[in-house]
Amino acid sequence: MLKLPEYVQKFMRAFRDKGYEIYLVGGGVRDLLLGKETNNWDFTTSAKPEEILKLFENAFYHNKYGTVTVPIKLKDKTLLFEVTPFRKESGYSDFRHPDKIEWANTVEEDLARRDFTINAIAFDGEKLIDPFGGQKDLKNKIIRAVGEPDRRFQEDALRLMRAVRFASQLGFQIEPKTYQSIVKNAYLIKNISWERIRDEFFKILQSPYSADGILVLKNTGLLHYILPELEECFKTPQKSPKRHHIYDVGTHLVESLRHCPSKDVITRFATLIHDIGKPKTFKKTEEGVITFYNHEVVGAKIADRIARRFKLSNKQRDKLVRLVRFHQFTVDEKQTDKALRRFIRNVGKENLEDMLALRVADRIGSGAKPSSWRLELFKKRLKEVQKQPFSIKDLKIDGYDVMKILGLKPGPKVGEVLKKVFEKVERGEVRNEREELIEEVKKLKVQN
Ligand code: ATP
Ligand code: MG
Repeated sequence: MLKLPEYVQKFMRAFRDKGYEIYLVGGGVRDLLLGKETNNWDFTTSAKPEEILKLFENAFYHNKYGTVTVPIKLKDKTLLFEVTPFRKESGYSDFRHPDKIEWANTVEEDLARRDFTINAIAFDGEKLIDPFGGQKDLKNKIIRAVGEPDRRFQEDALRLMRAVRFASQLGFQIEPKTYQSIVKNAYLIKNISWERIRDEFFKILQSPYSADGILVLKNTGLLHYILPELEECFKTPQKSPKRHHIYDVGTHLVESLRHCPSKDVITRFATLIHDIGKPKTFKKTEEGVITFYNHEVVGAKIADRIARRFKLSNKQRDKLVRLVRFHQFTVDEKQTDKALRRFIRNVGKENLEDMLALRVADRIGSGAKPSSWRLELFKKRLKEVQKQPFSIKDLKIDGYDVMKILGLKPGPKVGEVLKKVFEKVERGEVRNEREELIEEVKKLKVQN
């Protein structure tokens, strides 16, 4: 038997006491039936927005779809309950928004406008209203459109992405008729804004079955419209003599995502597209050896374009591009500290962990072990060199010290001295300790 927390029951009683019907719907019911914790408190009711507003003095109503938000104060947090009157939808001329929204009289009508059977179950606190067999589909792990799939995807093309997203979050299969309809209507995704596509795409990237989700996007044809650069990678072979690769580029990228240890969505995105420059740099020598020279440079440019298309923030774009641009870093134990420091500066200290996560993903996605002694040594060295200053600002002396020691006035000379000292620290000739640096500055006095 499903049990709702007391504060939810109390909330629902407030409606019933005034003679209204009220049901929990959508993700909340789904989570409950799956035995998961939920923070999806969406309700549908026979009350109209003005009537809901009268029930709760702190409720607010701001949206044209009739949703009223009711803040529910708990001991340690405030939850926002969303309540929408029974609705039906009709007339979609732009594949996106219903032309008009009409209130409905029954919860069954409201459930009929919902996208998938597992999302079209209502719960009144005691019994489930399940006209489309949602519980059965939930049990059999199936995503099935409510009603006629073609019509449902044509009404709102975002549902194409949502189907794949739920499959990939829950590890469900898309029912064959629904799947065929996605294939047939995939092109309609062009009507949806990139912000909304991105939001669904990011949910896929962060889901437990993200790699399979990407493969479903590819196989349904949706990938062709949202990330054609990645689709191209599946047609790019890289298995050749003298090379360690076992997969084509696209499969390698998906396998990398499957094993990506980072939860960060941009890192996961970068993992999925790190070799995106390969189709354009593909070369085959006479002996049949395949090469992709400079693919990371070409890839960084493509990543920048993708980031703009997906409307990422500047910060997200910068990170995505850097991770792609520098993913080919060497872990050679013979490289100098200076080279390591350049690498850290290029990647950005704040992205270092994620750059290493991408490398682990890349390795496993190529059929290798997660790490190697070289990679482990490299990580240790990264830590070591970070103990040393990265710029003049990190030195344990500053311009005032230099002026005092050398009796200088403010001017370019002060900067030059600091730069000389910094270079010595970088070369490992002096440590970044105040006493040692002061001695160094004094030596420069003698030289001058
Ligand atoms: P989550 O919140 O975890 O993403 P959810 O199922 O709650 O999952 P929401 O986007 O919050 O998804 O939507 C709540 C409910 O509203 C859905 O379960 C579904 O019944 C309905 N719904 C949402 N978007 C659509 C849509 N585009 N077409 C039809 N019904 C939808
Ligand atoms: Mg929700």
